Amino acid sequence: MLTSIEKIIFILLALTSAGFTIHGFKTIIDSVRKGRSAPELKNVPGSLIKAGITVLFQRTILKARKILSVIHMGLFFGLITYAFVNLFDALEGLVPGFTLTYGGAHLAYVPTGLVNAFNLISDLMSGALLIAITVFLVRRFFVKDKALTFRDNVLLNDKVKAGAQSRDSLIVDVFVIMHVSAHLMAQAFRLDQGADPFMPIASFLNSIFGASQIGLHVAWWISIGWVMFIIPYLSRSKHTHFFIAPVNLGLAKQNPRGQLDPAIPLKVPNGNHYDPGAKIITDLSWKRILDSYACVQCNRCQDVCPANFYGRPLSPSALEVNKRYLLKEATFGSHPDRLLLPLTEAVISPEAVWSCTTCYACVRVCPVGNEPMADIVDIRRRMIVDGAELDSGVQNALQSLATNGNWMSKGKRLRGRWAKEMEFSIKNATEEPVEHLWFVGDTASFDERVVPNTKMVARIFNHAGLDFGIMYQNESNAGNDVRRVGEEGLFEQLVEQNMQAFGKAQFQRIVTTDPHSFNTLKNEYPQFGGKFEVKHYTVTLLKLFEEGKLTIKKELSHYKVTFHDPCYLGRYNGGFTAPRKLLELVGVEFDEMPRNCENSFCCGAGGGQIWMGKVAPGERPAENRIKEALTTFEKNPSDKKQLFIVTCPKDMIMYSDAVKTTSNESKIEVRDIIQLIAEAVGVEEPVLTQAVTSPA
Ligand code: SF4
Ligand code: SF4
Repeated sequence: MLTSIEKIIFILLALTSAGFTIHGFKTIIDSVRKGRSAPELKNVPGSLIKAGITVLFQRTILKARKILSVIHMGLFFGLITYAFVNLFDALEGLVPGFTLTYGGAHLAYVPTGLVNAFNLISDLMSGALLIAITVFLVRRFFVKDKALTFRDNVLLNDKVKAGAQSRDSLIVDVFVIMHVSAHLMAQAFRLDQGADPFMPIASFLNSIFGASQIGLHVAWWISIGWVMFIIPYLSRSKHTHFFIAPVNLGLAKQNPRGQLDPAIPLKVPNGNHYDPGAKIITDLSWKRILDSYACVQCNRCQDVCPANFYGRPLSPSALEVNKRYLLKEATFGSHPDRLLLPLTEAVISPEAVWSCTTCYACVRVCPVGNEPMADIVDIRRRMIVDGAELDSGVQNALQSLATNGNWMSKGKRLRGRWAKEMEFSIKNATEEPVEHLWFVGDTASFDERVVPNTKMVARIFNHAGLDFGIMYQNESNAGNDVRRVGEEGLFEQLVEQNMQAFGKAQFQRIVTTDPHSFNTLKNEYPQFGGKFEVKHYTVTLLKLFEEGKLTIKKELSHYKVTFHDPCYLGRYNGGFTAPRKLLELVGVEFDEMPRNCENSFCCGAGGGQIWMGKVAPGERPAENRIKEALTTFEKNPSDKKQLFIVTCPKDMIMYSDAVKTTSNESKIEVRDIIQLIAEAVGVEEPVLTQAVTSPA
């Protein structure tokens, strides 16, 4: 179809385009290689294949924004189809006599049915692509969907503030519209024998515009010629994610969700000295530099971020976007020195760094396997080493942890005081063998609001005949939140203290009441040689029921309850089933909140937030969650007592406070699941009898 001159121009254009594209991707690879080493990956080809299949079936995108995700899927499949459409369009231009219209009647070597099927798919897909891209254009530029914007207090790269993201989207969206429309027009101009039933849209256009050789040449150049300009542009735009996202997913973290990467990579190349954590972008691992190229800039992570919800200046997506623009300026632009800018100036503000609850929601929801939370922890790590000013509450907590092994400024010896107040003795696991070593945790050991529940757990264990003990003053804080605050040195000190205590004890498994302790003991202590079987108390309790060691004496159908999945039990460790089975066993009426299981909403306490001295204004995540529970109950009203059930000592505090601050004490009560179990199995607190002295 093309004339000889046109063919020469096209080939020159294609070669130039390939050169710029290769340069674009080489620049990306070079910048990624500047990062530190990442934890080793096993079976990379297998992971890449798995990621390819995941992307092909768009499995990760449906985790949020269902309707838009379906439209995005249409766009994705449309673009995949278009890779073939472009190939055949190029062949139609370059190979004389090659055309797929009318079932490829001139092509003796290809089955007509196959060509017709391809024509029908590509024709309909073209229409679907135009609709999908129009929806995205309308959403961004006319509806101005707030989900695509950032809060004013979030640190943003100047170019992003000036609208670079929108410009980028506009360029690519307009390209797709021109490209697809021109392809359809070229097909229409090609139909010199009238309509082709397998090309309904092109046939419709043909009925209006007719067939035309000049029209075909013009449309072909608009359609295929533009591709030669857009491909090199893609490697320099946010749409790099088309190519990098599948690779990024394939190279995603393989370690457990609840295990942070080491503060200093395990493999440090010869002669290099690494400080812990990250100050500048190249202190991040190469994988987390790659994250920014894979980022779709969809803001799904921002949608689920409790800190962002609370009005804090934190947006995990802004973090990735800023990384991307910083790299662009330093590698594609003329500012290589920008690579040396502190991340806290170029990527995320210090206030935002200290707002993260480490809830993992951003990582979980990300369709391309990014880990903005891990960057934040690394930035905290370096800030701590560099002596950054900390919130006074966090500072006090860390000081107390260093001297007392707990964050509550309590003497070590007081840790087991609650146990000594019990009506039966509780074994000291460092002095006699036990089957279950109960790692109680700070909040459950010291906080007066939680201690009654701790005692009830002990009573239920005792009632069921469980062989258990605690470590009394030998237990130290497990270190989960200390590590997430970035105090790696103190974390290691706490691990060492606990490992020494475990060394004195004989036990088969650890049971914990605190999901935070559960997480680090299960997932991070193995990094330090502590490989234990670790159970959350909900799992232990369920087993006791299954073994008949606990039996229900009274069904609790007079309660209407909902349940909050703690981040470190649920999202991090998949502990969704045991609490729900326990609630079913005790016979309560259970209403599930919309945000549940993986999609649970953080209470706002994690990552050291519970230690913060300063409380920011605005509706706190826990308050929002209480409102969510009440709205859930309202859908199915009854006069039963309404309970908000928790399985984490910190949740007990956060939500009890939130019920008070939202003035909902008359509508809902926060209870630990153990309180329901105690009532259902008929274990009660002993009545304390006071000696009455009669007057003489
Ligand atoms: S871990 Fe949670 S709080 Fe931190 S950035 Fe991600 S979503 Fe926000
Ligand atoms: S990090 Fe993931 S979820 Fe967040 S904007 Fe980028 S692609 Fe979307």
